[in-house]
Order: sequence, then structure tokens, then C-alpha cells
Amino acid sequence: MASSLKASKNLQPSSITSDHQICTRCVMDTTDPEITFDAEGVCSYCRWFETSVRPAWFPNEIGRAKLEAMVEQIKTEGKDQDYDCIIGLSGGVDSSYLAYQVKRMGLRPLAVHVDAGWNSELAVKNIENIVKLLNIDLYTYVVDWEEMQDLQVAFLRSGVANQDVPQDHAFFAALYGFAVQNNIRYVLSGSNLATESILPKAWGYDAMDAQHLKAIHKRFGQRPLQSFPTVSFFDYNINYPFLRRMKVVAPLNYMPYDKQEAMTILEKELGWRYYGGKHYESRFTKFFQGYYLPIRFGYDKRKAHLSSLVVSGQMTREAALAELSRDAYPLDQLAEDRAFVIKKLGITEGELEALLQAPKTTFRNYPSNYYLTRGLRGAIKVARKIKSKLKF
Ligand SMILES: [Zn+2]
Repeated sequence: MASSLKASKNLQPSSITSDHQICTRCVMDTTDPEITFDAEGVCSYCRWFETSVRPAWFPNEIGRAKLEAMVEQIKTEGKDQDYDCIIGLSGGVDSSYLAYQVKRMGLRPLAVHVDAGWNSELAVKNIENIVKLLNIDLYTYVVDWEEMQDLQVAFLRSGVANQDVPQDHAFFAALYGFAVQNNIRYVLSGSNLATESILPKAWGYDAMDAQHLKAIHKRFGQRPLQSFPTVSFFDYNINYPFLRRMKVVAPLNYMPYDKQEAMTILEKELGWRYYGGKHYESRFTKFFQGYYLPIRFGYDKRKAHLSSLVVSGQMTREAALAELSRDAYPLDQLAEDRAFVIKKLGITEGELEALLQAPKTTFRNYPSNYYLTRGLRGAIKVARKIKSKLKF
């Protein structure tokens, strides 16, 4: 325990080397093994943001017109239904602000919250306030805790980087499954290019790959997954979007979305309170991002989150560097949170320590649909290009 607490003060013990390089524009660095830099020292993410993200991001009048048209279509298609859209609500900044905006736009959403067992007390309070003050119906899906626990321990024992696969998969599988079962075509998502465009692929793996999730559970799990929500490759990639015509819309990409401003509005109007970090509404995610990932792999997700704010113009590079110089984990909370995670997962202090020290491994060491997904996405891209050329 003592050694772990000490290690947490220096969150990249194994990754800072003499070859270390940091982008001159954002704060991404060579702790991402796939990052590259140009002659001016600007990283591949900054370049990618300008060439691929900015053209798809509309925090302006064009976005307002596009969003108005989308909202009208959603209202028209759903006019005879109890709800015209569905929103996932975690209680985090993005989904809370989305709920606020969706109501302002006059839509009639059903909010779905997936409780995977790790909600902080603050998250529960924030969700209660949001649905009450915005007058939104809430459906809460509670994941069977024993299955969730077994799957999470299996992931820890697998040693892979992305320990948030079980939570993230459950969130989206339950949300999409509920939308399709209830014939609600539009799923409105809080994901956005303004605050979360950058996330290195090398730091994790796709949470929506059920084949990967099941393969890890089969190898390390101890009880069957009977009710745990999963979404198959076919449903996620083909059935839901093309046959059932479920449409995921990200409204925050069609309006100015400034994180600080959004938090101020949420605090003022909905009594919302901040958690101290992105996705920290889940006590597990806080532990995973703030401790497991930096200690075991040298990956500090704050670099990606802060760089996203820098490239979208919401934060200066200096402010991001100042933020990074602070402890990733508030030291006064670490011992308590670590003890909480150990107890909740039913493992021992010694086992967690051994798992943190075990040789590094990647998702590639387990079965997955990685190549199938890549192939399909490539084919869809080509098909869309051909379709758009035929149109004109
Ligand atoms: Zn950069």
C-alpha cells in the first residue's frame, strides 16, 4: 500500500524517458506510442483535428440551422409516441448538459440511466435534480451486480488497458437495446468534438466489441453472464443502424459547447455539482483513469481530455500544463477509494497490487472483432462515398 501511494505522486514512472517529446500546440506526448510530430513539433492529433474534426464540427450558424432541421424531423417522426427521443444520462457534464439542451429545443426525451453499481452519491443527487427540474421521465436499468463484479474482476485479471469496457459496454448496450425494443428511433448522445475529440487508440480498445468482452470473461470469469446487457456485432453495426434505422445524433456538435460555461449553467439552473474530473461520476472510472491507467501503463487520460480543450480553443496550453502538474489523484482520497474498489470487487489488497505489477498486455492477446469491425467500417465509408457521388 505504502509503495502504491508513493508511486501515485509520480504518475508516469515508466514512461518519461530521454526520448520524451510533448506537442508544441497541445499537451499530448510520447506516452502515446503512436503519436508523431511534424518539423514544428506539432503532433498528429493537432493536425488530425484540423483536417478531419473541424470540418465535421459546427459550433456556429450552420450548426444551428442543421440542428433545427434535425429537431423538426425528430418531433415530426415521434409526434404520436410518448417520447420522441431517448437520452443516456450518467450525470456527467456532457449528458447533463445534453438533457438541458434537449428540453430547451422542445423535444420530449426519455432519459435512461444505467446503474452499473459505481455511481457516486453526487451522481445520484445530480441525476435526481436534473430529471426533477427539467421534468424528464427517467428509466433506470440496474445491472446485476454479481455479474458486473465477476466481469470487472475478469478484466482486471486479463491485464488489458481499458478496464472501463464492462461499464461502457453495459451503458450503450442497455441504452440502444431499450431504444430499439421501444421503437424510439432517435438516440441523442452527449458525445462531442468540443471537449473529447482526442483519445489515443493505443491507450485502450473499443468497448463495444462484445466478442472481446465475452472472450475475456470466458477465460477469467467464474459465473455465467445471464442478464448482463451486451450488443452483438451484427446488432450494433448492421441491425440497429440499418435494419431498425436507429439513429444516434450528437447535438452538442451543432452548437457552441464550452465546458466551463456548461458547468456554470448546470450549477445555476439545475443544482448540479462537479465531480473533480471527467467521468468521475463513476467511482470505478475515477480509480481506473486516475490510478490504474497511469500506474500500470503510464497513460494519463487527462492529457487527452485537456488537449481536446486546447485544440477546440477552450483552454490555453499553459493552463493545461498547469492542470497536469497537479496530482492525477487527490492523495487524500486515494487510500479510501482504493479500499472501496478492493472491497466492492471482492479482491484482496495483495491481488490488486499483483495485477498492477503484472506484465503489460494488450487487447490483441485476446479474441476480438478488431479486423472485422475495421473491414466493415471501411466498406461502409466506401459505400457512402459512392452513394454521395451518384447523387450529384
Ligand atoms: Zn498536439
